[in-house]
Amino acid sequence: MTEQTIEINLSNNKKEKPNPDQLSFGKVFTDHMFTVSYSEGKGWHEPKVTPYQPITLDPASMVFHYGQTVFEGLKAYLANDGRILLFRPKKNLERLNLSNQRLCIPTIDEELVLSGLKKLLEVDKEWIPNAPGTSLYIRPFIIPTEAFLGVAPSNHYQFMIILSPVGSYYKEGINPVKIYVEDQYVRAVSGGTGKAKTGGNYAASLKAQEGATSRGFSQVLWLDGVEKKYIEEVGSMNIFFKINGEVVTPALNESILEGVTRNSVLQLLKYWEIPVSERKISIEEVFESYSKGLVEEAFGTGTAAVISPVGELSWRGENIVINNGETGTIAKKLYDTLTGIQKGDVTDYFDWTISVDVK
Ligand SMILES: *Cc1c(COP(=O)(O)O)cnc(C)c1O
Repeated sequence: MTEQTIEINLSNNKKEKPNPDQLSFGKVFTDHMFTVSYSEGKGWHEPKVTPYQPITLDPASMVFHYGQTVFEGLKAYLANDGRILLFRPKKNLERLNLSNQRLCIPTIDEELVLSGLKKLLEVDKEWIPNAPGTSLYIRPFIIPTEAFLGVAPSNHYQFMIILSPVGSYYKEGINPVKIYVEDQYVRAVSGGTGKAKTGGNYAASLKAQEGATSRGFSQVLWLDGVEKKYIEEVGSMNIFFKINGEVVTPALNESILEGVTRNSVLQLLKYWEIPVSERKISIEEVFESYSKGLVEEAFGTGTAAVISPVGELSWRGENIVINNGETGTIAKKLYDTLTGIQKGDVTDYFDWTISVDVK
């Protein structure tokens, strides 16, 4: 592919930056965005950085009707030495194209997206917070923009990246959460779109999440969509258990989203020579192992929280408290190591971080 020039059009109306102590998640956006258009015949074209602004679409635009969308989520960190660090961005771009393939969206040049992201970060670098635990959340996404009500892949798309400064996920250190094992609704099924980061999966999850919240739980544990027997994910995170000395996570399948954090956790555990396996694990096995005193830890993994310990699980009216409701040793070590690497404070054994050169 020939290299495309990224046009840059700077905002002359800069917004006020939020107080770093009051950052929440995904409510405040920076001054610029990066966009690339797609039309049949032309392919992906007109990459540009422009002022952050509303977009105008025809009400018949396909994005409003049948959910042919994909998105990604990653973070940029400001290191203490002033470098801007991205954590394994190529994994996210690879996954974006896997999602595209599943949703019949034309794949996009990963190098072009990475260059656009770097340009955008350069322009909005003052928005990257540097207080402990804070970062700049990066949301790339694609919407179909053709005005057509037929159920078919769109012939026009818009790729965009927007940025949002986010606060520490945990206000007072990492906190174990209460999880409801969902045995009525499912998130994804084999043959469906669970493996892709596409909007419909999250729309499908809201009902169960609403039920869990109303019962006093923070998230649901998803079981497989066929037998409702095997564990798949927790909320929109991957899940790990430590049972009888071994760390176990569900093996990837058609309905599990492969997290970059999950992949990084597996590599770290292997590096530390902690026994780990990817296999099918049933909810029954967890409760049975618990009754034998063998469940040592449980935690979710994902970009937003990095590591989210599970303190309590409730399944069919039975509640189990894991590790006395406290953060486990492995969860803590993983959290400290991953956030340390991301922020440039811990040796990056695996060359995971990419530094964005700012002129
Ligand atoms: C994004 C996501 C994850 C976590 O992926 P990371 O790359 O680690 O952030 C896990 N499960 C679901 C359903 C997700 O959408």
